[in-house]
Amino acid sequence: MLPVIGITANFDAENHRTTLSTDYSRAVERAGGIPLIIPILDEPDRVEAILDHIHGLILTGGVDLDPSYFGENPHPKLGRVSPERDRLEIPLAQAALSRKLPLLGICRGIQLLNVAAGGALYQDINSQAKDPLKHYQEAPRWFPSHEVKLDLATRTGKIHGVKTLRVNSFHHQAVSRVAPGFIVTAWAPDGIIEGIERPDDPFTIGVQWHPEGMWEKDARFLALFTALVEAGQTFARS
Ligand code: MN
Repeated sequence: MLPVIGITANFDAENHRTTLSTDYSRAVERAGGIPLIIPILDEPDRVEAILDHIHGLILTGGVDLDPSYFGENPHPKLGRVSPERDRLEIPLAQAALSRKLPLLGICRGIQLLNVAAGGALYQDINSQAKDPLKHYQEAPRWFPSHEVKLDLATRTGKIHGVKTLRVNSFHHQAVSRVAPGFIVTAWAPDGIIEGIERPDDPFTIGVQWHPEGMWEKDARFLALFTALVEAGQTFARS
């Protein structure tokens, strides 16, 4: 049986549209899973019923998280937020965490995962972190613009099998306080956290880069999707 991987989407409120780059669904398909896009719900308390149908979940990239979810007021450099996405995805992530559903957070997704589990974010790296490098690249999507150091003792490190990796970077927010139960798996050279995971789970991983935008140019970046689909397969059997 092919595991079904739920994927969150962008919400274009103005035009009443659910939108998502096909890079995510094609990565899941290439990795051997069945992608299923989850739209905004008017009744977000139905997240449990959605989770009953999937064997893994990808929290995708997108706009900034509302800082009220980590107890802060908006910093002047906070960007656009999506109350509709937050209202769905925070409970979705929390319910997925509590049933130990294989979970991959990408960019906004690592941030959402961290906040849903009780952590906090820099609302704007350039004004809140010390001596940051350029984390919002103007190079093409697939281009690996900065290094990250991986901890090879972590699941994320083992999946990649290298101590240093060059990744793409399209974020101005980042994990600041790591959620309880999570560990850091990857750092940029400026100390910005680029990866977290919850080691007690079979597969709860967040990365700050966009592997879905890189795998077609560099097959090593399919590894996270392959590992997610494998974890989904194990979850489906259990
Ligand atoms: Mn970065």
